[in-house]
Amino acid sequence: MVKIFMPKLNKKEKKQSSWSQFGGSILTTILIFLVIIAIFSLTADEKNKIEEISISELAQSVASGEIKKIEVAGEKLNIEFLNETEKKSKKETESSLSETLSNYGVPVEMLNATEIDIKSESGFGFWLLRISPILIPILFILIFFWFISKQVKGSGGMQAFTFGQSKARMTDPSDTNNRVTFKDVAGVKEAKEELKEIVDFLRNPKKFLDIGARIPKGIILTGAPGTGKTLLARATAGEAKVPFFHLSGSEFVEMFVGVGASRVRDLFKMAKKASPSIIFVDEIDAVGRVRGIGVGGGNDEREQTLNQILVELDGFEPNEKVIVMAATNRPDVLDPALLRTGRFDRRVILDLPDRGDREKILEIHSLKKPLAEDVNLKVIAERTPGFSGADLFSLMNEGAILAAREERKKVSQFDLIRSIEKVMLGPERKSHLLSKKEKEITAYHEAGHALLASVLPNADPVHKISIVSRGHAGGYTLKLPIEERKLQSKKEFIADLAVYLGGYVAEKIIFNDVTTGPSNDLQIATALARDMVTKYGMSDKLGPVAIEGFGGRIIFGQGIENKEYSEKVSALVDEEVKKLIDEAFKTANEVIIKHKKALDAIAKELIKVETLEQAEFDKLLILNNIKPKKEATKKINKLRV
Ligand code: ADP
Ligand code: MG
Ligand code: ZN
Repeated sequence: MVKIFMPKLNKKEKKQSSWSQFGGSILTTILIFLVIIAIFSLTADEKNKIEEISISELAQSVASGEIKKIEVAGEKLNIEFLNETEKKSKKETESSLSETLSNYGVPVEMLNATEIDIKSESGFGFWLLRISPILIPILFILIFFWFISKQVKGSGGMQAFTFGQSKARMTDPSDTNNRVTFKDVAGVKEAKEELKEIVDFLRNPKKFLDIGARIPKGIILTGAPGTGKTLLARATAGEAKVPFFHLSGSEFVEMFVGVGASRVRDLFKMAKKASPSIIFVDEIDAVGRVRGIGVGGGNDEREQTLNQILVELDGFEPNEKVIVMAATNRPDVLDPALLRTGRFDRRVILDLPDRGDREKILEIHSLKKPLAEDVNLKVIAERTPGFSGADLFSLMNEGAILAAREERKKVSQFDLIRSIEKVMLGPERKSHLLSKKEKEITAYHEAGHALLASVLPNADPVHKISIVSRGHAGGYTLKLPIEERKLQSKKEFIADLAVYLGGYVAEKIIFNDVTTGPSNDLQIATALARDMVTKYGMSDKLGPVAIEGFGGRIIFGQGIENKEYSEKVSALVDEEVKKLIDEAFKTANEVIIKHKKALDAIAKELIKVETLEQAEFDKLLILNNIKPKKEATKKINKLRV
């Protein structure tokens, strides 16, 4: 069902009139029923005034010759006595009156002497009574259906009646309130550059068609979740000022089998009618996964939908001025047929924002929020490596919520700083009280991580440690890379492994026991070691092979990893993973035993103050003869507010 943005008043009026119509007819029906009931009860009342006698009494009266006339109407008997009184009675429908009376022992001659008048049953009331047991349910059913069909037309929703149609939402270019343009998207410069070409084409197709240029039909936006794919697609339509049909991949595969394909057909038909226009299929991986390797239900439907998308993409000519955009954060699982030339052959990649872009995104989202003088968005941007646009959006929002909760009119820098951790780790759980023993264990655990991060040259330096639990974490140690980087080296990974195990080893050495606390650390470390061996070619024994891809196949709706190597290799992988972990464990052990005094100092301080910032932490390191990481210290000190 397409919701086209009609002038608002119109739509409301229409809805209202249909409702009043509907309400009116319901009212008349109810009124008619009331009238009928009233008539019935009236006539019934009248009859009630006449005394009713039993059939045996009647038989007696007949036998004693008191009766002048009996009127028979169906089972009802109206009796007229000789003394002019009227009474009524009832007989069984099956047998005749004379039969009944003679059964009661009325002599035949007395029967003959009484006038019996048999009236044919007729009259509106009679018939209504007869058919009402059938009529009333039918009426109710009719009313019910009519009500439902009204509802469907009224709300434009009921799926059972509209399932073939596309469910795309269309945004009209004249709807200036909801219009998004490139100005609302910060960063992603290359992507915007690519899309400007499309905007140009949609605005001025003639220029391109005259010179015989072929404009791409399909553009696929890829990037991590929250990098602004959906936003950028909308902005493209907003810039070009063309209608924008927005549909999510999962909506194709809803509810009924066979519907996905017809929805695709509908969608393309509508877009062509509105051309120049943009069709946007969000989360296309829901339908566009590699075909033919699935086991279990639901795949046929997906395949049909995907096939239909391919047919439509092939079917329309460039001069139809419809651009199809799609977005996914799993480009690796897409069917290669989708990405072939002439289909989604343009790939636009959206990266996570770097420091400068983060600042710009923060600026965009602070436009409507009054900021205090002390706010320095640059500092916030520096402290949020790895945040996506969506994370930054929610950071700004959290900051505003904090300020509002503390009855302040402006968002301060401190609000934003607190929000960073909230977005990263979930809210602080101050109510989650640790017992004295738990607090001690958590303190040593975090101190273990922090110590390793400070001692190992290839690890990222610590910028905050805390034993206040947040989200699922009992405590946390935040590390901040000295500089932003896209590539990670084997040496860094090896250091990371040791840092992850730091918590576990500290607990083991100090308490001679292990808790469930480090289980998440161990999972992360194992997964990292596995990736090093199977994806990055960082194992000496296996050499530079990537035996595990990034895809996966679908079995019963769940992705499982492809395993296309022998048992022998599999055993070798396990061996190599174990070796990496063992080495990391050894490193962690050595470091912690060597610097046990420092570990004690950090843990004791943590138990006392619960949260240590970089400067305080560095002081502790210096006191224990560990040199803090120079470069980072300088930088973080400069950042401190
Ligand atoms: P995706 O579709 O890639 O998962 P969205 O486009 O839904 O991400 O982004 C979610 C929100 O994050 C957007 O509505 C916007 O508020 C914010 N956002 C993401 N990227 C940017 C950006 N580059 N500039 C401004 N805001 C952004
Ligand atoms: Mg999205
Ligand atoms: Zn840990």
